[in-house]
Amino acid sequence: MKNRSILLIYTGGTIGMKQDPDTLALVPFNFDQIEEEVPELKKFGCRIDSYSFDPVIDSSDVVPQFWVELAELIHKNYDKYDGFVVLHGTDTMSYSASALSFMLENLEKPVVFTGSQLPIGMLRTDGKENLISSIEIAAAKNAEGHAMVPEVCIYFESYLYRGNRTTKYNAENFRAFRSANYPVLAEVGIHIKYNVSCIRYPEVWGRPLVVNKELDTGVAVLKIYPGITGNIVDAVVDTPGIRAVIIETFGSGNAPTSKWFVDSIKRAVSKGLIILNVTQCQAGSVDMDAYATGVALKKVGVVSGYDSTFEAALLKLFFLMGHFSDNEDVKLYLGRNLRGEISI
Ligand code: ASP
Repeated sequence: MKNRSILLIYTGGTIGMKQDPDTLALVPFNFDQIEEEVPELKKFGCRIDSYSFDPVIDSSDVVPQFWVELAELIHKNYDKYDGFVVLHGTDTMSYSASALSFMLENLEKPVVFTGSQLPIGMLRTDGKENLISSIEIAAAKNAEGHAMVPEVCIYFESYLYRGNRTTKYNAENFRAFRSANYPVLAEVGIHIKYNVSCIRYPEVWGRPLVVNKELDTGVAVLKIYPGITGNIVDAVVDTPGIRAVIIETFGSGNAPTSKWFVDSIKRAVSKGLIILNVTQCQAGSVDMDAYATGVALKKVGVVSGYDSTFEAALLKLFFLMGHFSDNEDVKLYLGRNLRGEISI
């Protein structure tokens, strides 16, 4: 750990909150208080510098400009540090980790998001262990001297996950995140066991970091449910200013076969919209060849989201649409595994 350096970036979230005496609601406090609460930070053999967003935010207030600021901050400090730990609220952590995974191209250093379910000042907090292990992971190197995990990840309650494979699934339990379609990248017990065969390493080391800051948020979301009606589907696909609609389908990518439904989707595709199919299931993949209900969607030009989380699908669209003005290019890249976000 000696000679390593970590930049600890504090953006807000429960980990750094305390109760407002008037309203009793949790509000963020400033970073100095975290350092006071975790004197262990001084015991690390490596250099830990910190940077606090101003103002710090509850992660429900995250907007794309926040991701741009975070990516720029990492870019500016990229050569100075071996790894980055981002303290972030859990509510939208999977969205932010997915965003950064697409925005930071050629990443060769760890960017570890973490937070907590209980504020760091509370006796039973999960924040201390999350923070300490995240720093250790961000500083870890392999025998060749390369970062052990050169990815955007989330560390939470003993597990390190690929960020763009996660979803927050528990609002109460300390194990707040799940990566249903991809194995954990590391497991923390007495030792930190890295799952090296599942970690993405660059094909060639030494390429400069590229930061993709253009994000196009013109995406609408249509969740399918029994009883959905034509006026609802049409209201979503006719939303002004959008370039894409994510349809959250049943099972392996199925939706009603009723003529009115298929016709609405067909009309949306023919007016140039990208329709991306993501399953409502927590685990498993879209397979539009499995049932007639999926085949009908494929036939009209719906694109498969494979086993993507909703968060990764949304951020992949923001990123690709920011990059390409032609929706046909976006569709082409949706079918490729860009950052380990889909299993193809
Ligand atoms: N509302 C908080 C946030 O996401 C929850 C948390 O940090 O766990 O900022």
